[in-house]
Amino acid sequence: MLENKVALITGAGSGIGKSTALLFASHGAKIVVTDINPEHGEDVVKAITHKGGDAVFIQADTSRPEDSERTVAGTIKSFGKLDIAVNNAGISGASEPIGNYPVESWDKVIAVNLSGVFYGMRYQIPAMEKNGSGAIINVASILGQVGFANSVAYVAAKHGVVGMTKNAGIEYGNKSIRVNAVGPAFIETPLVKDAMTEEAYESLKALHPMGRLGQPGEVAELFLWLASDKASFATGAYYPIDGGYLAR
Ligand code: NAD
Repeated sequence: MLENKVALITGAGSGIGKSTALLFASHGAKIVVTDINPEHGEDVVKAITHKGGDAVFIQADTSRPEDSERTVAGTIKSFGKLDIAVNNAGISGASEPIGNYPVESWDKVIAVNLSGVFYGMRYQIPAMEKNGSGAIINVASILGQVGFANSVAYVAAKHGVVGMTKNAGIEYGNKSIRVNAVGPAFIETPLVKDAMTEEAYESLKALHPMGRLGQPGEVAELFLWLASDKASFATGAYYPIDGGYLAR
């Protein structure tokens, strides 16, 4: 589905980003794996190239605009163009009610999860304009639509990602650049597992009518459709993938 496409994926060293990199590569895309963690990023590149795919790693912190600019420049240098960007890197932040929420955690989560997506699009879109087309997937969350106790920074950032995506859809709809947001419910990745006790993790399942958490690969399949030419009329929208979470 992605033959001859070049895809840049942030936070591609783990979880949803890693699954996306592997899936996109299996559909013929050349992959720019970016992550703040070089070991994990290089491992994903190795996994792709061992299977005969094309991939490079660029270490980057999405909360730094200069890293985003450098990542896009590196993509053009390696593969000549940018067709697809998945702004996926994200962190969970502190777990406290608003009255106790640590200001440093607020600043960090907003920097990575909200500003990071803006910095991404800020440099990806001009490269796509030069290319004549493009598809961007911004990774939001179900928490881009509803609240979740003790997660104010994450919830605010993800609501912001949905808003930015709408704006991008409006601004670039007539320029062959499609921009969409995806809202996964709780997915079995280190981001969720590392942030909570085994007991809390188990109780999360009950919030999903399907009675389970999602798998990273199930989210990557939606990214694949949105990134492909099959999604030719999809832009400026929010797509939940949530085992029924938001239906309750
Ligand atoms: P993960 O922790 O498994 O992977 C996140 C990756 O991002 C890691 O490789 C990490 O090194 C990288 N990263 C962290 N900070 C970074 C930074 N500043 N710059 C560059 N890379 C950075 O997490 P995941 O669950 O795969 O989450 C991926 C995205 O999906 C995030 O945006 C997250 O908010 C979103 N999401 C996850 C879930 C879930 O339940 N797992 C649900 C909804 C949305």
